[in-house]
Formats: sequence, structure tokens, C-alpha cells
Amino acid sequence: MKDIICNGCSLFCDDVAAETVSDEVKSLGFCRLGHVHLSTSLKVQEATAVVRENGRERNVSINDALEAACDILLSDEHPLLFGWSSSSNEAIREGLVLAAALGGYFDSSTSLGPLQAMSHSIHDLKLDIDLEYVRNNGEFIIYWGNDPTESLHRHPSRFAVLPRGEKIPEGIESRTIGVVDVRETETMKMANHRIIIPVGSDSELLNTLTSELSGTTSITGPVLGIPVVELLGLVRGLQKSDCTVIFYGSGIINSGHTNENLSAIAGLVKALRNNGKEAYAMPMFPERNTMGAVITANEVASSPGSIDYSNDEPVTTPGFTALQKLATREFKVSLIAGDDVLAMLPGPAAKALAQTQLVYIGPPGGLTDKRAAVSIHTPDILIMGSRTMTRLDMIQVEFKPWPDEHVAPLGMTEVLIKLREIIQKRTTGK
Ligand code: SF4
Repeated sequence: MKDIICNGCSLFCDDVAAETVSDEVKSLGFCRLGHVHLSTSLKVQEATAVVRENGRERNVSINDALEAACDILLSDEHPLLFGWSSSSNEAIREGLVLAAALGGYFDSSTSLGPLQAMSHSIHDLKLDIDLEYVRNNGEFIIYWGNDPTESLHRHPSRFAVLPRGEKIPEGIESRTIGVVDVRETETMKMANHRIIIPVGSDSELLNTLTSELSGTTSITGPVLGIPVVELLGLVRGLQKSDCTVIFYGSGIINSGHTNENLSAIAGLVKALRNNGKEAYAMPMFPERNTMGAVITANEVASSPGSIDYSNDEPVTTPGFTALQKLATREFKVSLIAGDDVLAMLPGPAAKALAQTQLVYIGPPGGLTDKRAAVSIHTPDILIMGSRTMTRLDMIQVEFKPWPDEHVAPLGMTEVLIKLREIIQKRTTGK
């Protein structure tokens, strides 16, 4: 078996191994999600392409697909380039260069919540620890508004709940686990504190805990239907812990109250620190390279997303994303990289996107691929290797080719480079 790094989710487990026996995948250490991702990725080891016209689909060469994609992209002065949260950092970088060459609008699936979360002032609180630090020091772990057993399966077992660490000699026995959610979750089964709250009441509970910890008010009766004894038990646990880490997820980010919720988490972190304790808050983005999409766009264009290249200088539009522009039917043509965005977007935005002429680059399957006029199917970087993604805690991870050292000549990055070269040739003659 060969040691590899899994990219089935944003944890990039590097303690796993896999081999193929008669085209079947045998894996060691992977979670169910990772094993399925490995098996699916293995089916695409070389780039292929299809075009669709009048409801009919036909296989074409990559060169023909590239020419057809250029015809579509150049038919609009201001195409949308969207997706990217499952693409490598190198592909995202090329996507930004392509957006500039096309005079297009670059945005990523991070505008569905993560972008707002990453732009919040909570990040001024020096929250930059990594998951290894959590493994070694995290004493009170709170999963708030997310269930890692659904999307980041090995988060509890590798980093936050089960493993021993430098200051956590007994593993789970040395930690306290809290789960706050709007319903009972699998992760609650391993928690010491299980709190179920009404939808949309996260900030109220956070502010109640902060007030109690700061001594400004006292909990004297149930809050949000939670008995006093449970609330005070949670507060006592927080007071005892030397290092508390809150992992917040879509319940906080996609609730429609992102800013209010993150400000309330920041308040709790500050209250704990004012009591002389270590405290941190980290997001739980399951999409594989959400962090890479945010960081790479920031490096290249000084903005984590929503970048308009229709003028000579890129213009960023914070707070105004592709979603709003889709709602006003601003785009006629879209290039989608990697993500099945038609399955991810809210209904009205998905409908508007589906009515644009679509070019898709990425793994086969999914609504977006099937709807595209041109699809170029590329191998995953798990197969390609030699590309990077950025882990949930902003650590950059480089992949190695699998199952053997043979590297396919065309992955998403190379396809984007070729597209740009053809476009530049057609528009400038060079
Ligand atoms: S937790 Fe994520 S990275 Fe780790 S094996 Fe599962 S899918 Fe792969």
C-alpha cells in the first residue's frame, strides 16, 4: 500500500494508505466519505471532453472542446467564472488570470457563506492556531452548528476529541466536549454537554454565556428552554478549561445571521480570555478547498472573492457577490470550475445560472456538468498529484500522484492555461 493524502474533505488526512487490486481500491485509515472519493477519483485518470447540442451529447477531443469553450466564453463581454472551492490553489490562480484575460467576473462558492465568515472582524482576535495545536491543547471542545460525523468524519478522532496530546494525556478522558445544534446529532453521542436550541437563537445563547462569564448578569431561570442546571454546567466547564476551542459550522454561517452570530462568538472568546484562559474559534468548511479559494484570491487580487475584471484594474465588490448579480440576470455565459454549483446554489440563483450558457471543467457527474454545453472532465488532484490545497486551518498541503507516479498531462490547471492561451491568441493575435 502507498501512503497518500486524502482530499475527500478539507481535513486532508495524511495518515492513510491505498492501493488498487484488479482496478478495485483497497484503503487503510480512510473514512467512508474518503474511500468513496478515492474510488470515484480513480475512474478519471485522463482528461476527456463532451459537447452537448439540442439535447444530444457527443465525445470530442480536448482541442475541439477547448475551441468550443472559447467560442462560448468570447461570445459575452463579461462572463462569470465561478466554483473553485474543490479546485487546487494553482487552478484557482489560473482561473483569476483567465478572468482578467476575459474581462470577466470571478467569484467562488465561498460566497455562499464562508466568504462572509472569513471577512468578519472575529479574525482580528488572533485565532491562527492549527489543528495539531488543538490536538495537543484543546481541553474544552465545542461543536456549534455543525456535525462532523456528516462531513468532516475524522475531525473528532484525529484532532479534537479522541487523540492524546501534550497537555491532554488521556485523550477523550482529559477533554470536555460540548455540542450545540438545532437537532440531535451523531456527534452529541460523545458529548458531555448536549444543547438543543431553537433555529436562529445562537447569538442569544452565546450572549447569555458571555454575560454569565463576565459577571454582568446571572442565569436564574431557563433560557431558550434550556434548564438552569445545564446552562450553569456549561459555564462551569468553560471556567475550568485552560484552552477552549469553538468549531462553528453552517448553523452559524448560513443561518441568515452570520455577522451577529460571529460577533457573539467573538464576545465569548474575549470573555474567556478576560478570565485568563486560552480560547479560539475556528470554522468548519467541509468543501475541500474553501480556504484555498479565499486565500488565493486574496493573494492575487487583494480580495477573497467577487472580483470584477471588466475594467483595466480589477474592482472588488465586498458584500455584493455573484449571487446578487445572478439574481439580476447579469451573466449570459458562465465557466464553472470543479463544484456542482447548480446543486449548491439557492433556487433563484441556480435557475438564473442554468439559463446561462455553461462551460464546465472538473470531475464528471452532477447537475452542472450535465447542463453544460461543453464539459472537460479532468482527473482529481488526488490522482494528478503535484498540486496544493489549503487545509481547514490554513495549512497548505501538497499532493503526490496516485496510484502510480504516472501523471496525466492535463488536469484542471493545464486546461485553464490552454484556454487562456487560445483566448489571448484569438483576441490579441499573439
Ligand atoms: S476525514 Fe476527510 S480527508 Fe480524512 S479520510 Fe475522511 S474524507 Fe478523507
